Amino acid sequence: MTTPPSSHDIARAKYLILGAGPAGLTMAKMLADRGVDDVILIEASGKVGGKCLSSEIGDHVVEFGTCYAIWSHKYILKQMKKLGIKRNYLRAQRIDDRELMDYIRDGSGPSFFWQVFKYLRLRGRLMAKADANDPEVNDLLAQPTSDWLRAHNLGKIEHMMHRVVTSIGYGYLNRLPLIHAFRWVDFNMMLTGLLKFTVMPDGGWQRFWDRFAEGLDIHLNQRATKIVRAASGIRVVTENGSEFIGERLINTIPLDVFNQLTHPSKAETRVAEAIDWGGYTTSLLSVADWPHDVPVNSWSATCATDANDGQILFSRIECEDEDGRTLVTVGQLSAAYEPDELTELARFSAQERGAVDPRIVQQVVWSYMPTYKAGAIRDGLIAAMAAMQGENNTFHTGASFSHEAVSTISSFNAQLLAKVAP
Ligand SMILES: Cc1cc2nc3c(=O)[nH]c(=O)nc-3n(C[C@H](O)[C@H](O)[C@H](O)COP(=O)(O)OP(=O)(O)OC[C@H]3O[C@@H](n4cnc5c(N)ncnc54)[C@H](O)[C@@H]3O)c2cc1C
Repeated sequence: MTTPPSSHDIARAKYLILGAGPAGLTMAKMLADRGVDDVILIEASGKVGGKCLSSEIGDHVVEFGTCYAIWSHKYILKQMKKLGIKRNYLRAQRIDDRELMDYIRDGSGPSFFWQVFKYLRLRGRLMAKADANDPEVNDLLAQPTSDWLRAHNLGKIEHMMHRVVTSIGYGYLNRLPLIHAFRWVDFNMMLTGLLKFTVMPDGGWQRFWDRFAEGLDIHLNQRATKIVRAASGIRVVTENGSEFIGERLINTIPLDVFNQLTHPSKAETRVAEAIDWGGYTTSLLSVADWPHDVPVNSWSATCATDANDGQILFSRIECEDEDGRTLVTVGQLSAAYEPDELTELARFSAQERGAVDPRIVQQVVWSYMPTYKAGAIRDGLIAAMAAMQGENNTFHTGASFSHEAVSTISSFNAQLLAKVAP
């Protein structure tokens, strides 16, 4: 990693990558693996890894941001192996303190395996046409996930999504457009549930990303404030006056922020306006007693299709604090609540779930889950997002172009690579 250049330094490379979160880092590594190493990453903060925040309590790591890898994280799992980083397997996960499979079976409709087969077949057909700008497909992908599941009598899949979509903070199924559920819940996701394969990198995600980033040319503490894109090349200016000059730009930061730094194209303006950024809050609670002994638990009442924002969606038991109280991580959809309201809601909701004397140790409010407006999906947003790649020698990736997960981001980058470095 490169230390910040002093002010007015100029650095040049063929490829400039804006942001050293999972999208920027995996793209840089994929380029390097193709023999392209003329790449600079420009990162605003003092660390790599983006929305990952590993906090150490003794020898235990609490993850406030990026948490798990599942079967879908094939690229990341391979990298963990290469780096010799052990996987810590997550033990039992339940919903209402029951086996997830029992809760899934309570859903309506035919057998679960039949529903999985039907869901994957219908999903496959629709996703194959997602980029085609077919008005019928656009309409289907724009509708609320629960409407589509109910129309196809997939009640058990709806129950499964309460755990694998809503409890993770991707949204309530009566509001979440189908395209988002489809992007996340694929064959690999289903396999994860059946094999109970959920892992965390030993030592935490920050350590993983630090190791992953070794050898890449990363400029930390360089917040881009201006981007000029001309036929002669691309110039990125940062807040301390440094300049980065290149031929191609790979943008990983939210498009609304990006557009404020440059003259956006029509497509960039259209896509930024079509995205609503949601919020997610992670809190570490210290409780005198916690009645749920399973390591990770969720609640059907708070993850239900039409539940309310702000309630706790899951809990993860961490360790004991020095006073012998239990430390538990919980997550909430932040919606429009202020941080102090979220604190109150987290405590109240935890008490409702049996927590005795819950106290907030630490709370982090994230900008999370870029969600497409239904009207924009109907108007051909997905096709427009694919078509704009390469315009002004700029390529866009990251959570808003794939989905809010490291697995989908790295798979998206693997596809985009053919356009970025043909
Ligand atoms: C609470 C939580 C739990 C999660 N759990 C999981 C999980 O279990 N599994 C999983 O796969 N994913 C998980 N995620 C999602 C995953 O962390 C994100 O999808 C991923 O970090 C997004 O990567 P990105 O590179 O698109 O964006 P980011 O991670 O946001 O990275 C963007 C980078 O760009 C930098 N930047 C911003 N503006 C500028 C600028 N002007 N100039 C230069 N740099 C800039 C930022 O500092 C940041 O480092 C979780 C996220 C959260 C918040």
